[in-house]
Amino acid sequence: MSLYLCGELDDVERQAWLGALRAALPEERIEDAIGRLDQAEVDVALVANPPPGSLNGLPALRLVQSLWAGVDRLLADPTLPTAVPLARMVDPTMAAAMAETSLWAVLALHRGFYAYARQQREERWKVLPQRRADEVHVAVLGLGELGCAVAARLAAQGYRVDGWRQGGASSRARGGMPVPVHEGTSGLDPLLAASDIVVNLLPLTAATRRFFDSKRFSAMKRGAALVNLARGAQVVEADLLAALDDGRLSHAVLDVFQVEPLPAGHALWKHPHVTVLPHVAALTDPRSAAEVVAANVRALRSGQPLAHLVDRQRGY
Ligand code: NAP
Repeated sequence: MSLYLCGELDDVERQAWLGALRAALPEERIEDAIGRLDQAEVDVALVANPPPGSLNGLPALRLVQSLWAGVDRLLADPTLPTAVPLARMVDPTMAAAMAETSLWAVLALHRGFYAYARQQREERWKVLPQRRADEVHVAVLGLGELGCAVAARLAAQGYRVDGWRQGGASSRARGGMPVPVHEGTSGLDPLLAASDIVVNLLPLTAATRRFFDSKRFSAMKRGAALVNLARGAQVVEADLLAALDDGRLSHAVLDVFQVEPLPAGHALWKHPHVTVLPHVAALTDPRSAAEVVAANVRALRSGQPLAHLVDRQRGY
């Protein structure tokens, strides 16, 4: 049997992935071109958001393993085989990177470092009030693999952190939450109203698309900041710009956008209260991710349960 690597990867990324995967799974045949494989022999697809139809004509497929953590684009592909288990990337290296990015954003917001950068551009010398970390209330929306790592890191840094998740019957059971947990729609508005900084780590689903709109911004504390590290389609950018312009929000740190790359001339690029990152909050590192893939492929081969399976009904 063999493994087929496919998706949106440039030549350098493709070679890095092939090298890491072949090193982690020396007993397997892994190719990135279907022409080099017998299609009837492919039982695992290793996918990085491949174009629709890429997995057609693979009758022996038994596992689709995403190399990326977010699977919203994959699930939107109507040609994705529905009967084959889909696993997403869950890698502690990625969670650590996400925790670092969140800590940087929250720390910079808390201590006014984005405001000081603005003052430097204006050659303005002005001291801003200095708050203690435990005076800063941070809400982490989404307490999954990444949200939990982020919440734990921020709490360890002394911030007052609360988390929010779906909860209820469709919640992915998880013990040992690092921070107080709020659940469901009833738990959201009081949390938003009390938080100085909201860090978004929700998956993109039907329920979270356009989640941050003018209504949601109105529910947030006046002068609060948004850190969006999840998906661009969760934020209505026109509403965000309006909320920033009227002072409802003080700053937004954005790693993800409705259209990526963020188009030239877009108002978010030069807005004085916006910090833009090019979707780099937590990159997948092929070296550690290949080991995660290898563990799942070996589980498949030995009849053990597969890890990190996506619930297609739930959408994450
Ligand atoms: P995950 O493990 O699937 O966790 C999802 C969390 O969100 C869970 O706590 C879930 O609640 C909660 N949730 C889902 N739908 C909800 C809803 N409608 N209302 C309230 N809570 C809801 O996700 P993850 O792996 O941590 O990924 C988080 C996000 O990061 C995703 O959007 C992913 O695409 C993005 N991401 C971004 C980057 C980057 O570089 N910017 C890198 C990797 C991933 P339950 O616990 O109750 O199930």
